[in-house]
Amino acid sequence: MLIVALTGGIGSGKSTVGEIFSQLGAVVVDSDQIARNVIERGTSGFDLLVATFGDGILKNGDIDRAALSTLVFSDPKKRELLEQITHPLIRSEFSKIVKSLPEETIVVNQIPLLFESKGDYRFDFIITISVPHNIRVDRLLKRGLSSTQIEQRIKAQASDAERESISDSVIVNDNDLASLTKQVEDIWIKLTEINRLKK
Ligand code: ATP
Repeated sequence: MLIVALTGGIGSGKSTVGEIFSQLGAVVVDSDQIARNVIERGTSGFDLLVATFGDGILKNGDIDRAALSTLVFSDPKKRELLEQITHPLIRSEFSKIVKSLPEETIVVNQIPLLFESKGDYRFDFIITISVPHNIRVDRLLKRGLSSTQIEQRIKAQASDAERESISDSVIVNDNDLASLTKQVEDIWIKLTEINRLKK
């Protein structure tokens, strides 16, 4: 088993690269999806968040992730509190998934806030996707975000340089999909070799 983290800022191409890894044979897990699952109605995560932040974070009985983001966005203490509640739940859910997989699996965990979570997670190999600022902004504008939203979100996250500093490999997603795929294939060869040597 090889546990790989795939990180990158907003709009860097995590989902796109995750899809390529999946086609190559990795089991790809999306931490954002796990983060949604652990706060669904009926979970202990849901109860804890409502008890902590009040029912202002609810919409039609479910946690409104947009309202929650807005609430913690401008208040670092609240953001820390949110992470203290959700990160252990996300980690435990990820461990459960890993335990259910065959021993030879290469697991790729798409995890946007790896750098920000400061060593809370353990990985055998870390990959960062970096993108020049102007290309990232163009791709996000095409996805319908406004310039202000884009700049705010980029500013709230770690920088490419910070993510690169904790990485074993860096993918530079500044060209077309063929160039991206080639970089992912090269890393895949490396990963399968590391996994083979681990046995
Ligand atoms: P987020 O963190 O915001 O969910 P992400 O890191 O998962 O984003 P993607 O959704 O994979 O990023 O990519 C962002 C957008 O850029 C998508 O619309 C995707 O199709 C496009 N994109 C990614 N890589 C390329 C590329 N090499 N060429 C053209 N478009 C690309």
